[in-house]
Amino acid sequence: MLQTSAQHDRILYVNGEFVPSSQAKISVFDHGILYGDGVYDTMCSWNYRVFKLDEHVDRLHESAHAIKLDIPQSKEKMKEIILETVLRNHLSNAYVKVVVTRGVGAEPLLSPYNCVPSVIVFAVPYMSQAGAAGERGIKMIVSSVRRIPNECISTKIKSCNYLNHVLVRMEANEAGADDGIELDVEGYVCEAPGYNVFVVKRSILLTPADNILLGITRSTVIELAETRGVPVTVGRIQVFDLYNADEVFLSSTAGGIVPVVQLDGRTIGSGKPGPITKMIHDSYQSLLESGEKSRSVRENLTITDELSNARDANHPSNP
Ligand code: PLP
Repeated sequence: MLQTSAQHDRILYVNGEFVPSSQAKISVFDHGILYGDGVYDTMCSWNYRVFKLDEHVDRLHESAHAIKLDIPQSKEKMKEIILETVLRNHLSNAYVKVVVTRGVGAEPLLSPYNCVPSVIVFAVPYMSQAGAAGERGIKMIVSSVRRIPNECISTKIKSCNYLNHVLVRMEANEAGADDGIELDVEGYVCEAPGYNVFVVKRSILLTPADNILLGITRSTVIELAETRGVPVTVGRIQVFDLYNADEVFLSSTAGGIVPVVQLDGRTIGSGKPGPITKMIHDSYQSLLESGEKSRSVRENLTITDELSNARDANHPSNP
């Protein structure tokens, strides 16, 4: 995804410095690489404004606190780094990722003590993880790979170990589907790789309560639905409820609102994105583009005038 040709050499933040991606380095002994020991968060920028920045940085810190990982930067400093990364890459609409790993310890062994955390922030042009299929609606299967439950590790932690979700996505793709529904060990619907799940039945929106990441898009969808008079129920959902839903859609920062039109070879509703899905999709898109609940990449920055001038000269329409 990160291209390293001169034209596409992105500027990354790595452990206290902004560096071109071709020169960015992280130790092979980093526990993020050795053990997947770390946390991350993903956000997006629209028209040079990062959506729900506070919520994303709060979630990152909560994930880190839950695994006893001290993020070296304060929340406010982290927000400045994120905004500056987007600005330095001159990206109007960006996909931004912050990764904090346990870092390097005295020995390349499992013990997390005495490690010095690593912090990476990068921004690339926004691309929907659902791709073109996201517009017309995606085809899914119910995965045979169950979601690792809260009893094993809190699903609220956005950790660097996504193997569970990767295996679900692979199974779905290899079966000819776009993605897979993840069930918990009891067989209830929880989520999809990188997405929360919503069901519409008789004009009521339903979404799972347990064994999920508390998605920031999920809470935005709930807010949008409630302010537009669509009742929302948070509870347990069975595969039967998905098969017989009027509409099903997924939500995530990286994918937006993605209609699901087929599951395990069964057509969902009309087989096309339904009216409530479209309403939520359009309201969400307008909210992103409005700049509400977003922070401008130029706010509170301590970047040099040189950088600012270079940006304005190259991109006169930038804010
Ligand atoms: N569920 C999982 C497992 C995720 O990884 C993500 C996002 O990466 C989501 C749900 C959606 O969360 P958000 O809306 O905050 O992007």
